[in-house]
Amino acid sequence: MPYRYNYCPICEKKIVFMINPEDIDDRVFPAPVHVLHEDDDCNKVSTFYVDSFLRVSYTEPEKKTGAISQIVATSR
Ligand SMILES: [Zn+2]
Repeated sequence: MPYRYNYCPICEKKIVFMINPEDIDDRVFPAPVHVLHEDDDCNKVSTFYVDSFLRVSYTEPEKKTGAISQIVATSR
């Protein structure tokens, strides 16, 4: 599965994470997934919305409903 590079919408650091098809509810796109930014200065959960190719469409700096799993992101 591909690594995704993005920015944490809470602390705005560059992050990297891996996402798999089973991490999302594929009935509605873009589909939300919770992202825990594992970082000493952040360590907070935001929500990333991905399309059917698991590409990030947009992000929200809070834990939104509808996600079926939480994945871990680390600082780059
Ligand atoms: Zn962060």
